[in-house]
Amino acid sequence: MTFPYAAPTSQEWFDRASAIIPGGVNSPVRAFRAVGGTPRFMVSGTGAILTDVDGREYVDLVCSWGPLILGHAHPAVVEALQQAATKGTSYGTPSVGEVELAEEIVARVGPVEQVRLVNSGTEATMSAIRLARGFTGRAKVVKFAGCYHGHVDALLASAGSGVVTFGLPDTPGVTGASAGETIVLPYNDAVAVRAAFAAHGSEIACLITEAVPANMGVVPPAPGFSALLRELCTEYGALLISDEVMTGFRIGRAGWFGVEGVIPDLFTFGKVMGGGLPAAAFGGRRDIMGHLAPAGPVYQAGTLSGNPLACAAGLATLRHATDEVYAHVDAAAAAIGKLASDALSAEGVEHRLQSAGNLFSIFFTADEVTDFAAAQRQHTGRYRAFFHAMLAHGVYLPPSAYEAWFLSAAHDEDAIDRIAAALPAAARAAAEEDGA
Ligand SMILES: *Cc1c(COP(=O)(O)O)cnc(C)c1O
Repeated sequence: MTFPYAAPTSQEWFDRASAIIPGGVNSPVRAFRAVGGTPRFMVSGTGAILTDVDGREYVDLVCSWGPLILGHAHPAVVEALQQAATKGTSYGTPSVGEVELAEEIVARVGPVEQVRLVNSGTEATMSAIRLARGFTGRAKVVKFAGCYHGHVDALLASAGSGVVTFGLPDTPGVTGASAGETIVLPYNDAVAVRAAFAAHGSEIACLITEAVPANMGVVPPAPGFSALLRELCTEYGALLISDEVMTGFRIGRAGWFGVEGVIPDLFTFGKVMGGGLPAAAFGGRRDIMGHLAPAGPVYQAGTLSGNPLACAAGLATLRHATDEVYAHVDAAAAAIGKLASDALSAEGVEHRLQSAGNLFSIFFTADEVTDFAAAQRQHTGRYRAFFHAMLAHGVYLPPSAYEAWFLSAAHDEDAIDRIAAALPAAARAAAEEDGA
């Protein structure tokens, strides 16, 4: 396909980047390979708007892949960071901000009795799995196809997100030994989960699931599915790990737990809780968390864990993520989802709008998407055409059909109007693309 607008300065930077950074990026989806064209190099973000090196503005529907629930450069976050920076960037000792951030997390999510701070969602899930194995003395891990839990070796079997974007279901470099203890099941398939526990129940250390899978597009749990996972883990003595790195503090104050109420043994968090800086966490039952070093024998550590700048940004973000903010993001998500769906319907483009709280995505397919196999039946060519038309009209969508669309408190009427203005041409572009 041809791309409606050139991005000459982004292209220059991408050429420089590609010479010295593999693929020109430090995280694969950013390279636009799923949609083609030149990745935009951004120079600033304010509220709902990103500006690229060519001086073009975009309404941002990625929000750094979730963290920016308050929008770019929120004054309270910027001020917290400025103040923290003048006091030094890292101490290598305990510090006050870590305690305050941990207390905020514990206060929001009832079942979290203790929490350990780390630097990325990947570290959080990796550490939670090590802890589950150490606690239970078992080896096997159950995960669902299409669920992404970061680039943890054992969890890169049938992962969504960038892995599916590049068609690398099993990445080279992950040995059979590290993936061999992972059992991968289809999401929302109660029969398959029961069968796996019946066959391997006494060897399963944990089942890890995205609270709402949203790294293959948004695929909500069927009624009763999360509760079934809880029941089976309890029955077989395995731990249930709810990965709320994406949903935590985004779908409401207490994440997806606050909506559905199913109580896991461990949670993982990231994204929003770092306010755009590298901070993540895992936490849960005190008796399990007490197995972590130095309280217990399971080793886990980090030079920059609980970093004062990251804690300041995270704390300022959570303190400003009030009920009003969540109500606003919910309403904006509903409005934008409906506008996009209506525009596609007007052009006769088959699609499904799927949502869970304020997370949503659009699949270019006629059928409901309940698992990864169904997600892979979408027409990604239509998404590509839709994406580039939106980009040309100043709206930055996720550069892959397998991602959720993210909003913030800063997505106001002006932002929604700009999206509405871009949609008709994008829907037409999708209609003109014959799929596949
Ligand atoms: C983003 C994400 C991760 C990985 O977090 P990183 O900070 O990118 O390592 C893990 N789990 C889920 C559900 C995510 O969305």
